[in-house]
Amino acid sequence: MSQAPVLYWTRRDFRLSDNPALVAACESGAPVIPVFICDEVVATHGAAPKWRLGLGAEAFGEALSDAGSRLVFRRGKALDVLRALIEETGAVAVHWNRLYDPDSRTRDEAVKSALKADGIAAVSHAGHILFEPWTVETGSGGFYKVYTPFWKAVRGRDPGAVLPPPDIPAPQSWPESDDPADWALASDMRRGAEIVRPYLAVGEEAARGRLGAFMANGIDAYAEARDDLAKDGTSHLSENLTYGEISARACWWAGQRAMDEGKTGAETFLKELVWRDFAYHLVYHTPRITSGNWREEWDAFPWNEDERKAEVKAWKQGRTGMQIVDAAMREMYVTGRMHNRARMLVASYLTKHLMCHWKIGLDWFEDCLVDWDPASNAMGWQWSAGSGPDATPYFRVFNPVTQAEKFDKHGRYRRRWLAETSNPATDTAKSYFDAIPESWGMSASDDYPSEPIMSASEGRKRALDAYENRDF
Ligand code: FAD
Repeated sequence: MSQAPVLYWTRRDFRLSDNPALVAACESGAPVIPVFICDEVVATHGAAPKWRLGLGAEAFGEALSDAGSRLVFRRGKALDVLRALIEETGAVAVHWNRLYDPDSRTRDEAVKSALKADGIAAVSHAGHILFEPWTVETGSGGFYKVYTPFWKAVRGRDPGAVLPPPDIPAPQSWPESDDPADWALASDMRRGAEIVRPYLAVGEEAARGRLGAFMANGIDAYAEARDDLAKDGTSHLSENLTYGEISARACWWAGQRAMDEGKTGAETFLKELVWRDFAYHLVYHTPRITSGNWREEWDAFPWNEDERKAEVKAWKQGRTGMQIVDAAMREMYVTGRMHNRARMLVASYLTKHLMCHWKIGLDWFEDCLVDWDPASNAMGWQWSAGSGPDATPYFRVFNPVTQAEKFDKHGRYRRRWLAETSNPATDTAKSYFDAIPESWGMSASDDYPSEPIMSASEGRKRALDAYENRDF
């Protein structure tokens, strides 16, 4: 009689190397059936993350095939699909790597208890971040709310060795699989998908290439170059980390090796990786950070929450007339990414100068970013708005004009993304008009707004007045 298989349920861990759940499934000695489910959590994603997740899953399917295995694609509620597969294959166990955002936790907790009640071994593993959120505690046994002490608590820790790719025992027969192309995960991208695609680096090999190139060429100058908007001074690994095409641990050890070699930017890189862990630490301990003001007193602040307001539309469409903000919003629409400093600037402009609720920005980023991460996005928005645990104080308002002078000194970033103000317009700036929906009615030959919808000084004053007159 053939041995009962085990399922490996992949979600955001599209890699063969350093994959604890896949290794555990293989070490059980049973045949392993990898499965990806287009489930109730995937259904909630915005356009770009949903599309990019599908591309990542397909690339992982190819990598598994090259390794003598397969990826079974199924669609439906996660628990129903897993139960159906267990029924079809006689599987006795399901392994997966843990996720920590509220939607994933709700799903996974329900799946785990239901499968256990069915007599199936349901085993979750640590693989998405460096340190499990409950293993990092303050002296009094609580969780950290501020980044620097969190960094000090983890910087000397050993996240464990990177696991090699396992041999994956195949079952005698494979269950049926959907064709993920039929799921049309790109449909919400409309014509944008074609424009964004060349900027992506999909799959484990591409992720490893990015890390290698960054360690060879980028890390030494990283500490200074990472803030220059026009330079390609950062690793771009967020896209791969978010789909688990490379492990945070592999990046950590690469950073540690660079430290040993005396590369000057190495510690800054490790600190940034730890910001990602910190975001998950906060999301795990206070899941409400993804949906409401972390500091609840901010509920009384007079945010504009109306998505249809002209200011919101102008911000989303990159035509506020504040050049650095518009350049950044267009960069995101064309590439699916935005420079970190630009993210802080556009978030500050929306929440402070325009006094719009950070949730409007959070949702828009979730729709547009190919590196969308539920924890980092929520932390970034609440940090920028002033409503988060470790936030910049509300009275510290980024001035978009002086920030542009400092971080885009020669205007190269603005020229790269704004067609209306450059002569001749760059190809990247022009490509924005190919990516956006026709219904926005924008053209490269339009006049650029002669005045910003809210000036740096007036916006700052209005926000500070509202803050000072707050009744909390
Ligand atoms: P690098 O500078 O090369 O850094 C290496 C890695 O460290 C990154 O890949 C990332 O995983 C991590 N990292 C760096 N900066 C941060 C940070 N501030 N917070 C958390 N992790 C960090 N990051 C996302 O991955 N997804 C998001 O959805 C996201 N939304 C954001 C929203 C706002 C409003 C802000 C201010 C920041 C957001 N960030 C988000 C954080 C940051 O902007 C990106 O991680 C960074 O720009 C990614 O580029 P990189 O990979 O080249 O980073």
